[in-house]
Amino acid sequence: MKNISRLGQEFGQYLIQLTAELFLGKGEPRSLSEMERNIRAMLLKAGQFLLSSWLELHESSTPTETVPCPHCEAQAGYQFRRAGTLLTLVGQIEYKRAYYLCAACQQGHYPLDQKLGLRPGQMSAELENLSGMTGAQLPFGQGSQLFEALTLITLSDHSVAKATQAMGTEVQALEAEWMAQSQDGDWLQEQQRLAERPQRLYGALDAAKVHIRGQKEHAWRDLKVGAWFSTTAEPPQSPEDEWDIQATDISYYCDIQEAQQFGALLWATGCQRHAELAQELIFLGDGADWIWRLVQEHYPEAVQIVDWFHATEYIAPVAKAAFEDEDRRQAWITRVRTDLWNGALEAVIAAFEHLTDHPRASEPATKAVTYFTNNRHRMNYPEYRAKGYQIGSGTIESGCKQIVTQRLKVAGAIWEHDNAIKTAKARAALLSDQWDLIAARREHLPLPLAV
Ligand SMILES: [Zn+2]
Repeated sequence: MKNISRLGQEFGQYLIQLTAELFLGKGEPRSLSEMERNIRAMLLKAGQFLLSSWLELHESSTPTETVPCPHCEAQAGYQFRRAGTLLTLVGQIEYKRAYYLCAACQQGHYPLDQKLGLRPGQMSAELENLSGMTGAQLPFGQGSQLFEALTLITLSDHSVAKATQAMGTEVQALEAEWMAQSQDGDWLQEQQRLAERPQRLYGALDAAKVHIRGQKEHAWRDLKVGAWFSTTAEPPQSPEDEWDIQATDISYYCDIQEAQQFGALLWATGCQRHAELAQELIFLGDGADWIWRLVQEHYPEAVQIVDWFHATEYIAPVAKAAFEDEDRRQAWITRVRTDLWNGALEAVIAAFEHLTDHPRASEPATKAVTYFTNNRHRMNYPEYRAKGYQIGSGTIESGCKQIVTQRLKVAGAIWEHDNAIKTAKARAALLSDQWDLIAARREHLPLPLAV
């Protein structure tokens, strides 16, 4: 092994060379910015030197003649040193490492790659982590531009997309583990013994449309989003109060799936949050049927609350169709909203029923009657407020907006089905503070054995 002080001397020599290039090289920098750029480029070169040296330090100059073959039980024999390329956060690195071939199974391998988790010809785990994070935040084209501007590492749109989707794939793998646990009776019993029971946990469900490429025609598909969170904030005491529910410990999950399959993910993520053990479990959602069917199936004891804002959305369109006079219209809206706030559902439904024969308001009024009748047991707002429950699902609404609207509903974007899911899952992990966990799993993935 090369000795460190000699390596230090070599690095010193290289720094002298780089410094000379920087100060005496072609053309004096004309501005601070130009000098900053030059120094950054120099630092990358210094980084490449150190990274290559570090890899070399791991390689013995006289490799052992044989090592155990990872493909079979036999011994693999040393062949020669072979060059490899790594794409890293300090740029592209060439390195050399010993190559072994097994006579028994005819397969080769690189002990150094195995030992350090190197991915020759591919992005390093760290580069993948940061470029994947960029792609989870921005459209891939914009992400690739910003990434290059910030790191001086050039990555194509495609590479940023690939990194982001690799993280999404890892989220899927983690979710598959959670699903297996959530179906395992022993695991669930163990949780019951060990877990701290959450006092009050909230669940929320929603969906938003994503444009998906089809074989014949493109289609808008529902991307379902769920959130778990807790909060100690008091609910608003009047509709005009502060609605920020100050949710903490938010975890998002999402998928493009039928409700039944999505239910398995709801249950699996819930098990991670010990939802089934919560002393109070409260679900918020709009009036969508699939939401309440899933809640009923998996958490029959949970309190079901129709989000206040979704409920009130039914009022204005009816008023607009029914009353031309502005004052009468406003008076009607205020009355119905107040009744709804006070839990007077009979009065709310009656107000709409009154207008079901109205020539212009009939259609929205009839819709509203159905909606409020079907969901009346989820709109006991005075009782929820008295118990300190939140009644507006701001958290999941903003989750849907942040995951779907901000990132996946890019103008003109039509997504491949699987890529949309993976990108959404990567973004959900980022918004749930699970990014580092996912990145660490990617870093420690077992490598495919080289042949
Ligand atoms: Zn072998």
